[in-house]
Order: sequence, then C-alpha cells, then structure tokens
Amino acid sequence: MTVEFKDIRKAFADGTIALDRFNLAFDEGEFIVLLGPSGSGKTTACRILAGLEEPSGGSVWVGGRDITNLPPRHRRMSMVFQNYALYGHRSVYDNIAYPLKVRGAERSQIDGRVRETAAMLDISALLDKRPRQLSGGEAQRVAVARALVWQPEICLMDEPLSNLDALLRLQTRTELKRLHFELGTTFVFVTHDQEEAMTLGTRIAVLREGRLVQFDTPREIYRKPATRFVAEFIGRPAMNTIDGVIRDGQFRAGPLSVPAAGRPEGPVVMGARPEELAIADAQGPGAGLFTVDVVEQVEPDTLIFLKNGDTEIVVRALREAEELAPGAQVQVRFPEDGLHFFDPETGERIP
Ligand code: ATP
Repeated sequence: MTVEFKDIRKAFADGTIALDRFNLAFDEGEFIVLLGPSGSGKTTACRILAGLEEPSGGSVWVGGRDITNLPPRHRRMSMVFQNYALYGHRSVYDNIAYPLKVRGAERSQIDGRVRETAAMLDISALLDKRPRQLSGGEAQRVAVARALVWQPEICLMDEPLSNLDALLRLQTRTELKRLHFELGTTFVFVTHDQEEAMTLGTRIAVLREGRLVQFDTPREIYRKPATRFVAEFIGRPAMNTIDGVIRDGQFRAGPLSVPAAGRPEGPVVMGARPEELAIADAQGPGAGLFTVDVVEQVEPDTLIFLKNGDTEIVVRALREAEELAPGAQVQVRFPEDGLHFFDPETGERIP
C-alpha cells in the first residue's frame, strides 16, 4: 500500500498558500516525519491526508485508490493532536474504547482491545481515572492508545510530544519508536524539531514554504543535504556555511584557501559540519588561521567558536581542546571529503 500526495495545492480563504505543488509518496509500514519550520505546511499536509482539510488542487492516493473526496470516517486513519483532545467527562477506559464503539465493535471485543492496548502503553492502572487526573505524559499515552486501539492503517501525529518536559519527551520518543517496530503501523509524524525527526523517522520529508525540499533517510539528509536550507536546518550546531569563490581549484573566502579540485569555478557557498573540521597543529593544505572566540563545554564534546575576518565557524572537538583560550590563534583544517557546496543563488546542492 502506497500513500501519495500528488501535486497538492492548498490556498486558504484569506489567500494564504499553505501547500504548493506538494508531492510525496511513501510505503506502508514506514515512520514518515514531516519536518519544517513554523508555517511550512506540515499540519496542513497531515490534515489533508486525514481528510480534515480539502485540497484546492491535486489528489491524495492510498493503495492505488484516489481518496481525495473520501470522508474522514471512511479512511482507516487516526490522529493524535498536540493537545490530545481527550473527552474530559469520560474515564480513560471510555476514551480509549470510543473509536471501537463508534465503529460498532462488540462489547467483549472492545474490552479485550482496550486492555491489550492499555497494557502496551503501560497505562492499565489508569483506566478508571478521568483525563484531568492525569499528568501530561499519561494523557499523551491515553491519546496514543485511543489512536491505535482500532488498528488503523495510518496513525497521524501532529507535534504529539511538544507539551511534555524535556526528559519525558525523550522517553516517549523511544517508546514511539518501539511501538512502531512492534506494530508495523504506518506513522506520519509532524514536528519542527530536527532531532526528533532524525531519531524517529525511517524517512524525513523536509518542507519549506509549502514545498517538499528533500525526502530521504535521516542519514542521507544529514550527509547529503539537497539545499543550503536543509544543511543549516538539520544538525546542531548547524553546518558551517561560508560564502566564497572557487578559483584555480581552490575555494577562497578572505584569507581562507581550501582545495576544491574538480568543482565548477565561480561564486559558491561551502558547507562543513562542525565535527568534520579539526584543529590542526600546523599550517597545511586545506587549513586556515582562525582566532578562538568562545569555547563551550558540551560534554563529552567541546564546541569551539572561531573567527577569521567576517567568517565565523564552529568546530566540534574532543575534550583535549579545553585548553584553548579565547584570543588564541589556531589552524583549522577543512578535509576535502567532508565539504559540501551549494549554489549561492538557488541554494541547491552542487553534486
Ligand atoms: P506550525 O509548526 O507552526 O504548526 P506548519 O508547518 O504545521 O506550522 P501549517 O499549520 O500547515 O504550518 O500552516 C501553513 C500556512 O498556512 C501558515 O502560513 C498558516 O498561517 C496558514 N494557515 C493554516 N491554517 C490556516 C487557515 N485555516 N486559514 C488561513 N491560513 C491558514
């Protein structure tokens, strides 16, 4: 079963274009993350898949069938919202049972499924409580249980972890990953948190201004960002990007000169991840002199912020770099195989 967004356009009544020629296709069983900054159209894409929002153009297909005009209740999809949307006057048991009841399941079957799902999410002890008696983390699990209890084909989640504190967020993230592994249900998960996307997604769809910019595995997206925007959005600290020019097989930016053989000559943006850069002992090819600005310990690593004229970079190093003091002059080596190049006009990756 394949899920496909084909040329989706969504213009709201006030003229806002939330999605524009949005195309995306993925297979059953994947954990798809829609990632992008605020306003990039993630929620709109998710709601269109669920049938809660009608596209202004294009179509949605599931398993080779056009479902664009299919009412939400006929789609085998459930959705977990950021605010959980639990029924406050009903018990946890009834909240979880609700999707089975409306689908006309028998009482004995309902009871079995509710208890099984509650056990899977470790909330069996909460079944008699009301939502207002639950902590944020517990309410979140109840919402997930309610979404999964009727075994939908696709479970859609719109920023489901954003109301949890940092530690709980990490734990819940791990649990979601386990759930996906055990159930094999297709998940579509909306977030603006790149770390969440990197850890959860089997593939990540990066959105920007209503368009799909890249759709790939977390590893490919990290190693081969399709645009400068993706390069800077994924990874913390962000990829270093330096505006410069390639001349005579060398990338040059101010006093910095790095070998870039075989690259087209002309203006270019060079990118290098902080962990690819190294503090070198001596000057050599691909090294440039920088002045240490700030040193931050982020155990077990050290982040070294450096400057050379207008060029600012950050190097992620091991603990030995602790001795570097602000103001010190050091050589930073740019290894040729760890460099990325982008078109300064379009931001597209230069292969
Ligand atoms: P966020 O992370 O902030 O939720 P998002 O990537 O999910 O952002 P959407 O909620 O899909 O983005 O919104 C995309 C664009 O459409 C935004 O500019 C938003 O303001 C606009 N938008 C969303 N819903 C409506 C609406 N009902 N009417 C008008 N504009 C809307």
